[in-house]
Amino acid sequence: MRTGSCLCGQVRFEITRELTPIQACHAKRCRKATGGAFAPEAGVGLAGFRWISGEELVVQYEAPLLEAPPAYRRAFCRVCGSAAPLVYPEIGGVGIPPGALDDETGLELSRHAFVDQKAAWFPIEDELPQFPMRPPRGVHE
Ligand SMILES: [Zn+2]
Repeated sequence: MRTGSCLCGQVRFEITRELTPIQACHAKRCRKATGGAFAPEAGVGLAGFRWISGEELVVQYEAPLLEAPPAYRRAFCRVCGSAAPLVYPEIGGVGIPPGALDDETGLELSRHAFVDQKAAWFPIEDELPQFPMRPPRGVHE
């Protein structure tokens, strides 16, 4: 079992099933949302996820549609602004920001998504698979 929390510690959650490997999403929207070179994303099925506290502090932002639904969404703690788990009822899964985990032991980066939009200042120097746009069966929109 893993636990996670936001920066201020008021949002807490636990994961009781295996997380997917981490995808680095270099999409422009993910870079805007995180302020970084990419958004790291992992996922778990709904049955493997539970809020411990602070669910009521989690705010979701839904960006205007670019093409087709579902819309691009982000979830964050409204007190400290940290990335928070995002529940996707339509796919029965939860997007987990790996940096929110209290112990990241055993997690690995598996691939790069949306590299066509990646930051010019960030070189990808590993040998992991790269996808110009959305990879097949992506964790997120
Ligand atoms: Zn917080």
